[in-house]
Amino acid sequence: MSDDEILHQYLTCTMCGFCRPVCPVYRVFENETCTPRAIVGLAYGLLRGELDVAQASATARLSVSCRACEVKCPSGVEILKVIRWLRRSAWRQGIGPEKKRSAVEYLKKGLSINGKQPRVEQQEDVEVVLFTGCCERTEYAVVEEVFKQLGVSYSVVEQLCCGLPLLLEGLEDLLQEHRQRAFSKLPREKRLVTACPGCAYMLKEADLEVAWLPRFLSEKLKPHQLKPVDQRVVVHEPCFGLRYLNAGEDLDALLRQIPGLTVVKPEPWCGAMSFCCGAGCGWELRQEGDGPKLIRRERVNQLRGAAEKVVTACPHCYRWLSEEVPVLRIEELVRMALA
Ligand code: SF4
Ligand code: SF4
Repeated sequence: MSDDEILHQYLTCTMCGFCRPVCPVYRVFENETCTPRAIVGLAYGLLRGELDVAQASATARLSVSCRACEVKCPSGVEILKVIRWLRRSAWRQGIGPEKKRSAVEYLKKGLSINGKQPRVEQQEDVEVVLFTGCCERTEYAVVEEVFKQLGVSYSVVEQLCCGLPLLLEGLEDLLQEHRQRAFSKLPREKRLVTACPGCAYMLKEADLEVAWLPRFLSEKLKPHQLKPVDQRVVVHEPCFGLRYLNAGEDLDALLRQIPGLTVVKPEPWCGAMSFCCGAGCGWELRQEGDGPKLIRRERVNQLRGAAEKVVTACPHCYRWLSEEVPVLRIEELVRMALA
């Protein structure tokens, strides 16, 4: 984003404050400088030379990139682009948490954000390619079981980063280089399937054919295959599925297909404005401070009591929320229905 565009975003903001109550960072810190509208003002302060980068970017670096503010903003302020501009400015000054910096260094070397070598199975005769992103293959064990039950043939690509961390940090040049290097390794002309909505969004943005797991399972399941699942679950909709991929309906459709299941969505923190769990597709757990943990606590309090178990469709939300509450992966519900 250019300086002129930052100025435009600043002038577009009417300071109405609609973005404030939906921002998880503001809700846990209750500090006006954490609000999306304040972040836009801080960017303007940096542009005018009235603030230094460390001051101006401090709260932008706390954002969990949930996009709730943009969805709520009646003026169409592109808050995430402003956040990325501030983060990129901070990177240029060498400001940023060590965990994020080491991950970016790994990506520059062609490794995953965890420093692992990507592994790409090259099998021609398969229906789809299972893309695990930065998740371990073990986290896809139930997906693989369900694929086998459904007769879906697949190969697996592991530890190949989708590039989301580079997007969220505003490092567009590195993102372009990464895409060229990493995506040339993917098997050609095969549909990709991933459980991670952040990966699905990034692969789609790179014009690759990809299905988020709920959509793919929904297409594959036939009513006669499914037995009732006598469970009551509360849904945690992943931010990246809802507000980046715009695929909340895919998750709802799959849940509706499972007979016997009771699904609850306590208002107002489920549905279109579903509240973030703090993980930011795993990437925002690498920031400094307690923000993500405090946001998770807020989220757990919203969901607790609505049902015995939470269900979600993102490996990062699953891993993060599981530290506090019982959580089911969407594919586990499908496995129960296929039993
Ligand atoms: S909702 Fe949009 S216009 Fe209103 S204060 Fe927030 S960023 Fe500014
Ligand atoms: S993306 Fe989420 S955490 Fe970041 S400023 Fe917007 S509402 Fe707050």
